[in-house]
Amino acid sequence: MTVTRARTLGFCPGVRRAVETAERAAAAASASGSSGFVLGQIVHNPRVSARLSGLGMETIADPDDAPGRLAGATVVIRSHGAAPEVFERLRAAGAEVVDATCPRVAANQKAAASYASRGYLVVIAGDAGHGETLGVAGHAPGAVIVSSAAEAAAVATSRPLALIAQTTISETEYEAVREALRIPGRELVDVGGVCAASRERRSAIEELAGEVDAIVVVGGKNSANTRRLAELAATLGVPTWHVENAAEIPDELGRYERVGLSAGASTPDEDIDEAEARLLELSQAASDDAASDAASRA
Ligand code: SF4
Repeated sequence: MTVTRARTLGFCPGVRRAVETAERAAAAASASGSSGFVLGQIVHNPRVSARLSGLGMETIADPDDAPGRLAGATVVIRSHGAAPEVFERLRAAGAEVVDATCPRVAANQKAAASYASRGYLVVIAGDAGHGETLGVAGHAPGAVIVSSAAEAAAVATSRPLALIAQTTISETEYEAVREALRIPGRELVDVGGVCAASRERRSAIEELAGEVDAIVVVGGKNSANTRRLAELAATLGVPTWHVENAAEIPDELGRYERVGLSAGASTPDEDIDEAEARLLELSQAASDDAASDAASRA
C-alpha cells in the first residue's frame, strides 16, 4: 500500500496559534498558582482537549459554569472567538481574558459589527449553534444564521442585507445561500469570509481523489471542517472513512493499494502520524495473510 498525504492537511494557522496560546496560558497560570480555563473546546479534537486538561486547563462552556472561580483566573477564548457580551461577563467576574480568536474570524466579527451599525441585517452562512457563528452573530445585534439555501430563501425582510460566511464552509454552500437571498430591489452586500486555509484543504482533497482508491479523513466527529472534508471526498466517488483516531480505521482499509490521507484543521500532527502508521500496519497484515494463503495452497 502507498499512503499519500493531502498536500495541505491538519492544523490551520489559526488553530495552531490558539493551541499554542492556550499552552502558554496554562504554563503561566500554573506558575502563578492561579486557575486556567478554556471557554469551549479549544478545537474539536479529543487529544488536544485531553492534553490541555493535563496541563490544568479546565474547559467550560459558559462563564456561569465556574461560579465564584473566575476571579484571578485566566480564561482563553478559542480560535472560534466569542460574542462581546461573553468577554464582558468574564471580565466582570474578575477573569484575565486571553483572546486566541483567529484573526480571520476576528475580521468577520468586525465586518459584522460594522454592517449592523449601519442598519444592515447581517446574515451568517454557516452552522447554527456553532461557536464561531454565534460569536460573529454576537457582534451584530439581530443577525440571523442560515445553514442552507432554503433557510436563506425564508429570510423575509426589506432591510439591506450583509452576507458573511462561517470561515470553514465551502464556496459552493456560500454561493447557494447568496443566490437564495437575492431579491430584486433588496440590497445584498457580499462580504465573503470563507478562509483560504479551508479552501486549500478542500482543493487538496480534490487532487488526492484522482490519485487514490480510498481516502481516510482524520479529525473530531464534532469538527465541522473535518466533516465537510469527508463529505467532499465521498462526493468525489472515492470510498471515504471519517475517523477520529487511528484505532477507528477499519481492517478493510488494508486491502486498498493506494490510500489518501487528509485531516481537518483541528487535527494535530500526532493523530495524522498514527493514522498513517495504522494504515501501513494493516497493509502489512493483508500482505502477510495473502502470503500465508498462497503457502497453504502450495
Ligand atoms: S480555518 Fe481559517 S479562520 Fe478558521 S481558525 Fe483556521 S485559519 Fe482561522
